[in-house]
Amino acid sequence: MRIRRLSALFWATSIIAFIFILYVVTDLTFKLPSIKPVMMELDDSKWSSFESKLRHIENELNEHHAVVGEIKTAMDQIVDHSAENHSMKKPKLQKKPAKLREFKVVGDEPPRMHLKNKVDMSYCPINQQSSKTDIQMLSMYERITFDDKDGGVWKQGWDIEYKDTQWSSKNKLKVFIVPHSHNDPGWLKTFENYYKTQTKAIFTNMVEKLSEGIDRKFIWAEISFLSLWWAMDATEKEKVAFQNLLKAGKIEIVTGGWVMNDEANSHWLSIIQQLTTGHQWLTENLGYTPRNSWAIDPFGHSSTQPYLLKLTGFENSLIQRVHYRVKKELAMDRQLEFKWRQLWDGSGKTDMFTHMMPFYSYDVPHSCGPDPKICCQFDFKRLPGNGVTCPWGIAPRKIIQKNVGERASLILDQWRKKAQLYRSNVVLFPLGDDFRYDRSNEWDHQYQNYEMLIDYINNNDAWNAEVQFGTLNDYFKALHEEMKMSDFPVLTGDFFTYADRNQHYWSGYYTSRPFYKNMDRVLLGYVRAAEVITSQAVSSRSVTYILSLQLRDRVERARRSLALFQHHDGVTGTAKDEVVVDYAKKLLQAIKDCQSVIQQAAYYLLKQPAIQDQTQEDIYFDIDDIWQRHDEIPTKITIALDEVSPSRRIVLYNALAFKRQEILTVIVSSPHVEVFDPEGGPIMAQVTPVVSGSRRLGFAANKFQLSFPVTVDALALTTYSVSLRDSMSINKYTSFARIRVYNADYWSIELPKMFPVEQPAARLADDVTLQAGNSTRVLATKHGLLKAIISSDGKTTPVHMDYVQYGTQKMPDNNSGAYLFIPDGPAQQFNLDAYPELVIAEGPFKATLYTALVGPKAAEIILAVSVYNNPSLPQSEVELTNTFLIDPKVDDMELAMRFSTGIKNGDVFYTDVNGMQMIKRRYFEKLPLQANFYPLPAAAYIEDESSRLTLLTSTPLGVAALQPGQIEIMQDRRLSRDDNRGVNQGVLDNVRTRHAFRLLVEHAAPPCSRSRTGARGAYGLLSLGAHVAQQTQLQPLVALLHAADENSPRPQYARALRSAADLVLASFRSHVAVTNKDGSTYHGMGLTLQRVQLEKCYSNRAISKFYTVSDGQIQLTDMIDVPPERAHASSLTFLHVRGALPDALLTLCPMEVRSVFINVTLKHA
Ligand SMILES: [Zn+2]
Repeated sequence: MRIRRLSALFWATSIIAFIFILYVVTDLTFKLPSIKPVMMELDDSKWSSFESKLRHIENELNEHHAVVGEIKTAMDQIVDHSAENHSMKKPKLQKKPAKLREFKVVGDEPPRMHLKNKVDMSYCPINQQSSKTDIQMLSMYERITFDDKDGGVWKQGWDIEYKDTQWSSKNKLKVFIVPHSHNDPGWLKTFENYYKTQTKAIFTNMVEKLSEGIDRKFIWAEISFLSLWWAMDATEKEKVAFQNLLKAGKIEIVTGGWVMNDEANSHWLSIIQQLTTGHQWLTENLGYTPRNSWAIDPFGHSSTQPYLLKLTGFENSLIQRVHYRVKKELAMDRQLEFKWRQLWDGSGKTDMFTHMMPFYSYDVPHSCGPDPKICCQFDFKRLPGNGVTCPWGIAPRKIIQKNVGERASLILDQWRKKAQLYRSNVVLFPLGDDFRYDRSNEWDHQYQNYEMLIDYINNNDAWNAEVQFGTLNDYFKALHEEMKMSDFPVLTGDFFTYADRNQHYWSGYYTSRPFYKNMDRVLLGYVRAAEVITSQAVSSRSVTYILSLQLRDRVERARRSLALFQHHDGVTGTAKDEVVVDYAKKLLQAIKDCQSVIQQAAYYLLKQPAIQDQTQEDIYFDIDDIWQRHDEIPTKITIALDEVSPSRRIVLYNALAFKRQEILTVIVSSPHVEVFDPEGGPIMAQVTPVVSGSRRLGFAANKFQLSFPVTVDALALTTYSVSLRDSMSINKYTSFARIRVYNADYWSIELPKMFPVEQPAARLADDVTLQAGNSTRVLATKHGLLKAIISSDGKTTPVHMDYVQYGTQKMPDNNSGAYLFIPDGPAQQFNLDAYPELVIAEGPFKATLYTALVGPKAAEIILAVSVYNNPSLPQSEVELTNTFLIDPKVDDMELAMRFSTGIKNGDVFYTDVNGMQMIKRRYFEKLPLQANFYPLPAAAYIEDESSRLTLLTSTPLGVAALQPGQIEIMQDRRLSRDDNRGVNQGVLDNVRTRHAFRLLVEHAAPPCSRSRTGARGAYGLLSLGAHVAQQTQLQPLVALLHAADENSPRPQYARALRSAADLVLASFRSHVAVTNKDGSTYHGMGLTLQRVQLEKCYSNRAISKFYTVSDGQIQLTDMIDVPPERAHASSLTFLHVRGALPDALLTLCPMEVRSVFINVTLKHA
């Protein structure tokens, strides 16, 4: 109850805060929402004629001319009113762009270009060859043997030696002691519980204790906790003290994300959300700009992370959890500090300076130097009587005059040894651990004892050492004063898969709690759709100012839940059961908030001008994706059509920056229906019985799938409608699926007569095929498992599908758990029933094969294999949906899905990194099986000279390619044991889960040459078709059903004049704040775009006809309502805003991400 009240209060305060910082969205030149048919495929007679479309648009434009005056008057009134209340006037920002902070985010600005000129992209990092890599991670993996020799006191290293003469009075050893406390926003306790019982006290003590000594310092990372303290408990006095400590540089906020995000499962779009959410909080509440990143606990480090940090304007970063053997390798050549470069960057523009911690852990025993037995004695929280001890047997001693000399010399020796692993004389010594400094006496013990040591060492000239408390920034500043950037090596690649000791590889968490990993992606899609449509409503002035704040508030709340879940014990699935439930309930609420926002914003966009008297609770549409519970697969609405309401409209929203065409399926109550396009013309549709069941299959009563092709422009809303029709008359537009049922002896099939049903009496003994119209054809085994994919031009590619299962080793301290994957050997076949129930439904647009695979005492799996007849995407694509539950009686089992092909990829395969880019991987025989699993946040492929198999996933999971021609994806894991990494439980809370995959077979189009060689051959690219499939999977069309039909808003809203399939609208925030140099705050909107590079070898000309790509120049006014003079280039999270973008023209290199700040602040009078 208490927590609930806390949380309610917190949100209430947030809402008040939002309203308090009101600003005015005004004076935007009103723009006509224009509907432009972009690159429509006109050859298909199904689609309405171009002429009628034009007439339609003309009418609409006239309609708008009529309302323009009205709206303008209304808006002017609002402006006047707001201006009075808040004493704001017109901005002079665009006249004085020099006033904005100058900042070089990613090197030089691209040359200014004009739209009509051919764009020169030769300056782009991906097109240059000027940089060389010193350390390429995949090459290192090829080179080293992964031996695990006992290194003595530094078990995973060696005996470090040094000479006293290395240092002199002019060349002292500089040591920075950096006190820190690692606070997980949810792990063993929920986020709120941790705050209440531990974190709150850390803040209270922080402001008190840091003021006691002049030289005391502290660093803090997690803004989710800081913001909670700020809103709930911090007194005015404490806030002032905290601000002063920040200003004095005694507290540094490191990274400043909402959480310290997981780097394996998190999608880069969610990482942006969590970073921006934290940075925006810092800007608005503290006017603070973080500069250095601190990631000590994520379980392996991704190469996408340093790129995003670079884009925020960061200068330095720190990482910790890296394979012990890799650490040793880098330490031997003093390469633990390096410039981390993107694989595709040939110019060095993306370099992020990175410090890697050298030892086993970030706790004190593994931070001061190589010997944990000694370092532990300098963790003064472990002084006898405080409840924490040193497992190495020697307890710390309080520093007194009598022992200070001996103690000082002991720790100085460790620091000197640590310095041998780096290239400078500056040593970083992090002093902290999980939830440290929560008690007042811990502050006293740590700081007072170190103050004595510092005094003693600094006054002993013979030691040539200078020790001080420092922040991370103090360390990096001293380091860069001593060293040049050119002194450091360049590294490319990433740090997966992490092992901390022995063969303990952390590849289990790629898959743990997959239901919630899936929910994470669903919420990401909703947050994006909600923020984009809100921004469209705000910028087009469809909503009033007050309503825009209400929408913003709910989007922000959802965003914070998404951000919280990016924590390295959230999306990783490594928290305790009750914490998992707490996260899941937050995700569920966030999904509902987004749905509510989307339907309201959609209504206002369709019903311009804005209606008055709206409330937050208004429901205009139901979103066709019903989430009942936090642990249940969502269901779809059954659209009830009867004599009372014979017709329903379905509004579709496309939150992607490109026009899409796909086969949409809704559920209707009657098979006697017809479908109409946005112009009211009837279109072809397919009716299919609904196959249901979780263990046995069956047909649902009075429910039918209605499938039809839809086209929705970029960032647009469009309306299709479904009507009941006379059941007696023949309808040439509607087709009924042909049904085949196998191995279902006891069924009596009761389907309406129009469905042709075939039900052979004999058991199915042969392969079966599946096809929709002239779509890709699938050949499946008698179990319904994929066997081959036959493209529409007749090419057959064998793709053999299996389910397999792993057990776990059961030795003490050697078993699988939430983090670790330690199988007891290669996978075993998952035992299938000899004759599973099988249903095949085929029609002109969609064909699906369902099979019920029940392995006795293993798992029940419903597999659905679907192919679509989508003329815009004529590629060999198959959709696979696994709905499954591992038998609760099973103790230890991991379920995987495996595809075997004849593709001659050898041991090479490619996986994505946070859904942003593809990286080359290799299977290594010298590594154990579990080391060969990698994160699969979104996509993987294998290829040879002629063909490629791409797998896209709806859920982040673990992936491997254990044999040539194979790809294997984990599905779920049920484990009875704890794996000794702190969570202290197994993973037994499995729920019925659904993953959807898309499998693509592509054939190389000759002539095809690969130019990527050497280190730069270590990345991969998706084809256009795979990219489109991936984007549409991540961002499904939102289907909105009219809650009531009395209102008749416009059928369409379309603003974007362009469609570019290679552009990813990563984020579009309706409200962001930026701080100017003089401390004043500007408000506006913020958007972030990425342009992807696509694989040309697998280009399919038929696809590029519909899905056109950009030339890298984006006229923002073609996409959104933005006054061109108000668009400014910005850093990723809006910490730094640079000059204006002339004509709102943004130039993007392939693989680049750029943000734009749209200033709508009115200057204070
Ligand atoms: Zn942690």
